[in-house]
Amino acid sequence: MIQITMPLNFLGTVYREIRQALIDMGEMFELLGQPPEVTDAPGAKALDVPRGEIVFDDVTFGYEAARGILRGVSFTVKPGETVAIVGSSGAGKSTIGRLLFRFYDVTGGAIRIDGQDLRDITQDSLHARIGVVPQDTVLFNDTILYNIAYGREGATRDEIEAVARAAQIHDFILSLPDGYDTTVGERGLKLSGGEKQRVGIARTLLKDPPILLLDEATSALDTDTEREIQGQLRAMGQGRSVITIAHRLSTIADADRIVVLEAGKVVESGTHEHLLAQEGRYAQLWSRQQAEEAEAA
Ligand code: ADP
Ligand code: MG
Repeated sequence: MIQITMPLNFLGTVYREIRQALIDMGEMFELLGQPPEVTDAPGAKALDVPRGEIVFDDVTFGYEAARGILRGVSFTVKPGETVAIVGSSGAGKSTIGRLLFRFYDVTGGAIRIDGQDLRDITQDSLHARIGVVPQDTVLFNDTILYNIAYGREGATRDEIEAVARAAQIHDFILSLPDGYDTTVGERGLKLSGGEKQRVGIARTLLKDPPILLLDEATSALDTDTEREIQGQLRAMGQGRSVITIAHRLSTIADADRIVVLEAGKVVESGTHEHLLAQEGRYAQLWSRQQAEEAEAA
């Protein structure tokens, strides 16, 4: 008996760990698109986030030495602020997210969270303090309960239901044939884009990180669902420091600050009103998107 159950238990544990790692990677791939390349420095410390201030200090970076992608990027997210990064495709927005998660190290300058250089802290502690809500939440073949509980090990059923309520998915879950025990994912019940997003939000609420990294890429969500999800993301951002990588400007017009990135440089930054009054790059992007949305409506 022992001979057979031990390896099976062991395999079960390993399988679960591998699966979780894959989901982690899967989510990161969605938003950040790259495998990790960095390792902890000797003597790296755990990140401490008493305030939640994020500083990009003259950051330069290139995936290849010959081609600079970020060229002296500086901006600050003060504790509790929401800062949106906007700009044309290829400007380097997602790269900023990848660097914050430290999938790569900067080649010049520094990124600091509450004064701690990302290169001096452990990756585990960094990843534990940043919640990522990607555009497309990855579900795995397991119960919806497990898919939410994944946000934090050891969460109680009450805690899970509380975050499901907050993400407005609790009633939907109760309407499923097996409630919270309904299997979802590829081999289970297929959820709509909006439902998956809500599971992702519930998962992140459970994790309760002080820092949020959001990808607001316009997806296949219909306008009503998108508006609802936006509202939930905004509510989740209360009391946290948020970096939003934005594609549709109308969703981030109320950000505390908007950083406009072009070809790896910050060309403008300020509030929506401030940037419109400036009649520069942001104003140009804004009027173009307004015209597109009016056409689509
Ligand atoms: P954005 O999110 O603003 O559209 P990205 O940050 O994804 O832009 O990309 C910025 C630039 O970096 C683009 O020119 C892109 O082709 C390049 N890039 C992104 N990922 C890689 C990579 N892994 N290797 C080389 N170049 C990359
Ligand atoms: Mg991008």
